[in-house]
Amino acid sequence: MAYEVLARKWRPQTFDEVVGQDHIVRTLKNAIIQNRISQAYLFAGPRGTGKTTLARIFAKALNCKDGPTITPCGVCASCVDIAKGAAFDVTEIDGASNNGVDDIHGKIIDTVNFEPAGGKYRVYYIDEVHMLSTAAFNALLKTLEEPPHYVKFIFATTEPDKVIGTILSRCQRFDLRRISIPVIVEHLRLMAKTEDLNIEDDAMLAIARGADGGMRDAQSALDQMISFTGKDIKESDVLSVFGLVARGSIEEIAGGILTGDVAGILRLVAELDSSGKDLRRLTGELVNHFRNLLVCIQLDGDTSQIDLTDAQKGTLTAQAKLSTASAVLAIVENLIELESRMRLSLTPRTILETALIRCARASELVDLQTILRKLAKLTASDNTEAATVKDTSEKKQVKAARSNPVKTESKPAYKSESKENHSAKESSDTTISEVEKNRKIIEIPVIKDALEIFDGKIIDIKHK
Ligand SMILES: [Zn+2]
Repeated sequence: MAYEVLARKWRPQTFDEVVGQDHIVRTLKNAIIQNRISQAYLFAGPRGTGKTTLARIFAKALNCKDGPTITPCGVCASCVDIAKGAAFDVTEIDGASNNGVDDIHGKIIDTVNFEPAGGKYRVYYIDEVHMLSTAAFNALLKTLEEPPHYVKFIFATTEPDKVIGTILSRCQRFDLRRISIPVIVEHLRLMAKTEDLNIEDDAMLAIARGADGGMRDAQSALDQMISFTGKDIKESDVLSVFGLVARGSIEEIAGGILTGDVAGILRLVAELDSSGKDLRRLTGELVNHFRNLLVCIQLDGDTSQIDLTDAQKGTLTAQAKLSTASAVLAIVENLIELESRMRLSLTPRTILETALIRCARASELVDLQTILRKLAKLTASDNTEAATVKDTSEKKQVKAARSNPVKTESKPAYKSESKENHSAKESSDTTISEVEKNRKIIEIPVIKDALEIFDGKIIDIKHK
């Protein structure tokens, strides 16, 4: 059997096989069930998200020998021809290379009056419809408004903003989503199983990250990896082929920012730069990471709304405990600014390093504000607690003095405790240990927090 690329081999053939576009599939199915099929549809979305696939499945659903049906048979002549892109009743037009008035006349306007030959409908599918010239759009307008009852239009575009309003207003518009990373990973896992591949989880994740929401890109990347390494695919292979940075490195840099480990950050950047990684892409991935971290912190550690794999979620949850929302917000803002500066820069590494150092400091600066608030609070509670402590110890001293007048003098002085005779120990111990306990409560949080700001190294030998 002839070799077939994975993207073609795995192209969904039914509505139920379409991945990650449930909102559109449901609406199209309902339109067919309720017999409310519009004369024109516009599928808008990034490349590789399934526009042509959906158009073909919809055409099959209309023209299957059992159609219109939400479960086209896939084996009748009409279904087979449409799947191949060679059906007489379904005209596929590439808007990029057929964008003039003559093209629209020759392929559409002059042919709409021919009734369908095999199926019930004549379907015109124009890909990249935004590439049509204004004159071509205008030529199409009248036919689009009043087509013969058996004519259906499906337009696809990656840039819906460039489609003129008069066309848009005559279409039902569907926006295809970028496919989330976990969905792509699961699909790759299914493909790996069927194709008998041995592929690491992080390798699938790397492919999904590189695909940027496009299933076709992910499938093509997997194809390329099979050609490169055979059936055993490791994360490091994927990273080196596509110039991506390992998930671990991104998380490590993020950890360095959160803990203020500037030396660690600089070492990692140097390593990535010398191994030829795309630093602009790294910046984009860091923005995503901190954006996810911000969501995680804001939702009190809940990661269910973040499109990540379980391993990534584990890291996020751990890192969320290291920082505050305001600190991470400052980091995200710094990184977004960095992203736009890097696009124009001839020395991306220098800009990246300085910005990452700024990020590491940003978290400390924001912490300082939090600390100042804490200090203000503590000063207030300090006074109250100190008063309570003084009050309690004084009362106890008075009480002890009454029961044993000899020991009273020695109690306020700690150092003299050891010199105390044993008969006094029981009552004086209670008083002193309580004072000690209360002193800790009042003083140590202030010292500890202050040390955290002013010298990270001292944190290791903090109290207790
Ligand atoms: Zn069929």
